[in-house]
Amino acid sequence: MTKQLIYDLDLESLTQLMTSWGEPAYRARQIWQGLYQHFYNSPSQFPNIPKPLREKLANEFDFVGVGPVRYLDSSDKQTRKTLFKLHDGHVIEAVLMRYGEPSPPTPLPHSRPLSQRERGVGVRGEGKKRRTLCISTQAGCAMGCVFCATGQMGFKRNLSSGEIVAQVMYYARMLSKEEVPVTNIVVMGMGEPFHNYDNTMAAIDRLNDADGYNFGARRITISTVGLVPQIKRFADEKRQVNLAISLHAAEDGLRSSMMPVNKKYPIEEVLDACRYYVNQTGRRVTFEWALINGVNDTPEEAKKLAARLKGLLCHVNAIPLNPTKGYEGQATTHERAVRFKESLEQAGIPCTIRMRRGIDIQAGCGQLAGASE
Ligand code: SAH
Ligand code: SF4
Repeated sequence: MTKQLIYDLDLESLTQLMTSWGEPAYRARQIWQGLYQHFYNSPSQFPNIPKPLREKLANEFDFVGVGPVRYLDSSDKQTRKTLFKLHDGHVIEAVLMRYGEPSPPTPLPHSRPLSQRERGVGVRGEGKKRRTLCISTQAGCAMGCVFCATGQMGFKRNLSSGEIVAQVMYYARMLSKEEVPVTNIVVMGMGEPFHNYDNTMAAIDRLNDADGYNFGARRITISTVGLVPQIKRFADEKRQVNLAISLHAAEDGLRSSMMPVNKKYPIEEVLDACRYYVNQTGRRVTFEWALINGVNDTPEEAKKLAARLKGLLCHVNAIPLNPTKGYEGQATTHERAVRFKESLEQAGIPCTIRMRRGIDIQAGCGQLAGASE
């Protein structure tokens, strides 16, 4: 029988469980802090828990959830992708991207520990040092976007909230050895988070918990393919989490050919839901745009997009396509990307062009897991 994943419990359920086991309620908090502040991943590591209870926990619960099977570092060592196996054999991936660090501090056996200043703790400019984690919410994806490696795999299953949380804890534990934290989380790995809405939000709540990991909602971004009812629900919940929408095309014909979901929720409905979101929350929306050579990277396409987005509190994040096996489209060129950005900005829409990270380790959404499924 598969054991229950410890990260699937919230503090309340853990407290109820301890009570039902005849344990004092404060044991729940001790376990919670061990999991989310010390990143323990085995009951034997909890110094303040009596041995019989540790044994019982080990018998009843899985403390891993996502088991690392393989990892790949980009050649510049700034990006690490880890492939995890789930208890039922499906694989998912999560990627760490470091920004503003000259090289990851690899402690040598005989070297002295890095000083706070060297680690950038509490010094000016630490704000620029980011360690962004990209996590998955599903094994595979049902949305079938043609350019996406995860979409090309099809849908396997939803991740539980604990399996989503476990990816973060894995990297938090790894980074804690360098005494640095994860600074940002993007829910942009495998899967469509709004197609697994409840588990994704439960995972975010668990990561937010002030007595636990205490990770600020404002440092989390969720990216969705554009599921309209869930965008509205998300707006009504008035969360502080940032919202990104994968748009990629400014006309329904082109968008439907790239993203089948557009037949159900066409562009204008998605943008209406975005306006509703901005009205409800006062927060800016990000639009994701994968620049595909000769397809959606022309100045004309930028003008159509600008016309659509006029008056909406937003900005566009454009990124050259990461080519995949199952799709013939190619990445835009540097010059075309710059022209696209300029056309948008001339029309009053802010745009940033992001670099592709970890291109040499197939860090694009689902590319590694797709290869091993
Ligand atoms: N399902 C969600 C989040 C995961 S995909 C969504 O679609 O938004 C995260 C982002 O990567 C999305 O903007 C998606 O469109 C983009 N993406 C997927 N495959 C890509 C590729 N091959 N090249 C560039 N971006 C890609
Ligand atoms: Fe799913 Fe997002 Fe990939 Fe589309 S781009 S198939 S929604 S993961």
